Amino acid sequence: MATTERTLVLLKPDAVARGLIGRVVQRFEDAGLKVVGTKMVQMDADLAKKHYFDLEERFGKDVFDLTANFMQMGPVIALVLEGIEAVANVRRLVGSTFPNESAPGTIRGDFAHVSKAFSQANKIVAANLVHASGKPDEAKYEIDLWFDSAELFDYQTVAEKYTF
Ligand code: ADP
Repeated sequence: MATTERTLVLLKPDAVARGLIGRVVQRFEDAGLKVVGTKMVQMDADLAKKHYFDLEERFGKDVFDLTANFMQMGPVIALVLEGIEAVANVRRLVGSTFPNESAPGTIRGDFAHVSKAFSQANKIVAANLVHASGKPDEAKYEIDLWFDSAELFDYQTVAEKYTF
């Protein structure tokens, strides 16, 4: 059954440093997703480990270290977005992990083009602008990790009448 969900999005340090905060958030607002929480955060090693708790197991220590270091290179913008099947819908708007494989019209496809082969050959992270929770249970874990309940808000948007 289609349900209203919340999902965690991070605008990674590359998106913030490139001045893309507004344009990326616009994509989500344009699709009718509601921002119910937001803040700027400088990640530390502990938060990186908790956020990417299974990355080393999935891809090895090198990928985890590259990613954890990259995420601490500058501040990130954390967002909780709400909408119908928000987890899958936000992933659809974000695109694939490697920007060269992301369709035009997705955030990663429109604002980057780095490939897995290039990242691996040069031992650099795939700077892909955005993190978005992969599954509803991951979204719950990540929202609890990043936000206190007092930092999340219930309100009605004008567009909600037509999009929800
Ligand atoms: P996603 O962010 O699309 O859910 P993953 O959870 O699989 O992707 O990986 C987390 C992040 O780690 C990616 O967004 C990317 O920045 C980085 N990453 C994953 N695999 C690689 C790789 N082989 N080389 C470089 N960076 C990688």
